[in-house]
Amino acid sequence: MSKIKVKTPLVEMDGDEMTRIIWAMIKDKLILPHLDIDLKYYDLGVEKRDRTDDQITVDSANAIKKYGVGVKCATITPDADRVTEYKLKKAWASPNGTIRSIMDGTVFRKPITVSNITPAVRSWKKPIVIGRHAYGDLYKSMELVVDRPGRAELVFTPDDGGAVLNATIKEFKGPGVIMGMHNTDKSIHSFAQSCINYAISEKINLWFACKDTISKKYHARFKDIFNEEVLAHKDALDRAGVTYRFLLIDDAVAQIMKHEGGILWAMRNYDGDVFSDMIAAGFGSLGMMTSVLVSPDGHFEYEAAHGTVRRHYYEHLKGNKTSTNSVASIFAWSGALKKRGELDGTPEVVRFGERLEAAVLGCIEDGVVTKDLVSLITPAPAGYETTEGFIDKVAGRLCAVAK
Ligand code: NAP
Ligand code: MG
Repeated sequence: MSKIKVKTPLVEMDGDEMTRIIWAMIKDKLILPHLDIDLKYYDLGVEKRDRTDDQITVDSANAIKKYGVGVKCATITPDADRVTEYKLKKAWASPNGTIRSIMDGTVFRKPITVSNITPAVRSWKKPIVIGRHAYGDLYKSMELVVDRPGRAELVFTPDDGGAVLNATIKEFKGPGVIMGMHNTDKSIHSFAQSCINYAISEKINLWFACKDTISKKYHARFKDIFNEEVLAHKDALDRAGVTYRFLLIDDAVAQIMKHEGGILWAMRNYDGDVFSDMIAAGFGSLGMMTSVLVSPDGHFEYEAAHGTVRRHYYEHLKGNKTSTNSVASIFAWSGALKKRGELDGTPEVVRFGERLEAAVLGCIEDGVVTKDLVSLITPAPAGYETTEGFIDKVAGRLCAVAK
């Protein structure tokens, strides 16, 4: 069987625990037998990050900026327990956070849908994609606990010696809590541009939701910047037949429960954190949610939305059989390959990505599934596959479908 040539190198970022085991199987059984591909390999496993003082993470993000497309395995974000478990020098920052800040990207999460899994919400017929702003707000906030009466103020001191701005937050009569958060126009513009680019490339309508009726300056800034960007991209949106709609976040939540899906729902950082898990659960399993980081200058990093599936890995280490869902990791590869083929103008590479996805969906629709899907499938399957067994079934199916 002759291999399909991939023109431009693809950046590959390896990861940790169960997903690292899955990663090697996907590469050996689904990718390398079929493709002649130059993989620029970065080992983001936590031990290698520790040895390189996390330089490997920075290098991998810069490689995506150089080559344009990357595919990433899930990685451990170490906390104190992990520092002990893996004997690390320190609790290194989240690799995803590091990569996001270098690429200045927006994260899009899309559930993989199959005909024999009915979403929890009856009206959902097509995937609902979440576009989560991945900078600032709650995630870069400063907080204080105060234990006595006093005045809390917001103060802005310009670098150029201009007038100081201030506002009283609260005259406290007793103990309480205070939080200050920020965002930047630059980051919000990038977010809006990335969402518009994604909606155009997928030809799906775009929603943006926040609460500008209450937050007349902070949330309103997001709404205004979205409006500006939509106006600036009006021709491209019209050409793609993509419409834009602003909604109050509570209205959006009510609307989505009777919507058929097939939209991109853009949200601020915290809303995206909360609602992406709701959408994932509503469509089925975490093992079926894909994630792509898109930068405003057109670089792409594909991954699964879930983590390293630690509990399954510990079973694997004990020598027990596991049944971990590899679908989102396989779709990270197929997504990256389809994008690589599209950018390179190599339709045979795009077709390979499509065939790989069809092989996965075909297995599930025939009732060949991992354990997490058993209770979701109708009619109920007779049993379930091991982690490796499922990938072998996909590999067999991929070989069987004609080129
Ligand atoms: P997780 O990997 O998302 O898994 C949590 C639970 O969800 C699993 O125990 C499993 O439930 C279920 N699950 C998730 N993915 C599955 C799959 N593919 N197939 C079957 N079941 C699946 O979260 P975690 O185990 O709490 O976190 C492990 C590590 O992942 C942490 O160190 C965290 O820092 C990291 N993390 C990384 C990323 C990333 O790199 N993108 C994202 C999130 C978390 P059952 O045990 O009930 O079967
Ligand atoms: Mg979350």
